[in-house]
Amino acid sequence: MRKKSTYSRKPQHRELPEPALVFDDLLPDLREYSNGFGWACCPFHDDHNPSLCVNLETGWYKCHSSSCGAHGSNIVSFVGAHLGLEYREAREYLEEHYG
Ligand SMILES: [Zn+2]
Repeated sequence: MRKKSTYSRKPQHRELPEPALVFDDLLPDLREYSNGFGWACCPFHDDHNPSLCVNLETGWYKCHSSSCGAHGSNIVSFVGAHLGLEYREAREYLEEHYG
């Protein structure tokens, strides 16, 4: 089991996991910083320098590569884009794997 993160803010939906846990699972090279953001190689394009900035508390993410431009405002969008799932399917995935 992964250790619980120390972020104090509660997730918006009780049944959804903390975004930090999900980012950590799906982005093997994620580096977390104390300001609540993390950087990782972007899974949405062929990335060799970490271009993807994520907010570990809200699930917001944005790729800073101009040729990619992947972005979203919450962890459900991220999981959906990452795994090729519809929004509803992504929610179910999260509830199933982290509920
Ligand atoms: Zn990208």
